[in-house]
Amino acid sequence: MNNNSFYNDRKFCPCCQDYVAYLASPTQSYCVQCAGEVRIMSPEDWATFNHNRAKSPRRKGKTTKAKTAATQVKTAV
Ligand SMILES: [Zn+2]
Repeated sequence: MNNNSFYNDRKFCPCCQDYVAYLASPTQSYCVQCAGEVRIMSPEDWATFNHNRAKSPRRKGKTTKAKTAATQVKTAV
């Protein structure tokens, strides 16, 4: 496999409002176009990311139901 991470690895620049190539320092990453600090992902993607994470704990409740359903299936079989 070729190392394409240089081209694929991009971060979101709030100034450019886009995913950009960046310069990484040990503590921060900077946009190569405007030298502003870049983020791992856009606020929109971040919200989606957190939203998807928030869904996980709810599955615990569903697990109980799934167990009940599985028990019912076992009983039926
Ligand atoms: Zn920028």
